[in-house]
Amino acid sequence: MSSPASNPYAIRIRDLAQRPGEMRTLERDITVPETLGAGQIVVPEGATLQLDLRLESLHEGILVSGHASAEAVGACSRCLIEITEPVEVDFAELFAYDASEDFDYQVHDDHVDCEPVVRDAVVLSLPFQPVCRPDCPGLDPVTGERLADVGERAAPEQIDPRWAALQELRANGGANTDAEPTER
Ligand SMILES: [Zn+2]
Repeated sequence: MSSPASNPYAIRIRDLAQRPGEMRTLERDITVPETLGAGQIVVPEGATLQLDLRLESLHEGILVSGHASAEAVGACSRCLIEITEPVEVDFAELFAYDASEDFDYQVHDDHVDCEPVVRDAVVLSLPFQPVCRPDCPGLDPVTGERLADVGERAAPEQIDPRWAALQELRANGGANTDAEPTER
């Protein structure tokens, strides 16, 4: 575990420790030291993460609640184009003074390390299969082209049997109307 000085997620709580009822809010913009997420979209190392924290001193420890904002970058799971997506997550965890089975996190001397709490909240919010748009048509299985770019150009090449039948009908109808006058 990194020391509080080098860990941007570490929050000093000396002013709150063992003082139940005390409360403090804190805003901190951090540079993400280690990529959050491991899927097709992540909050990369070096990205800015905005933390809006509320620290409350309780008898058992320090309750840390807050909100994290960042921008995730990745690739559309269908067409592979680069995409970005806003990340907005809330979290709340109690950091206990004593190591106990009841609490997952502990106060370390004069600070709490919010890294695992923020990491979990952010990673869980990331879409498993991100898409550039909800109806992304993906890639052409033959050419590998991005179908959203190909767009209308691809349509005439695909012969829809219903459309072919309609064209036939229209052709026959046209022939009949041309033929009728000559028969009278
Ligand atoms: Zn896409």
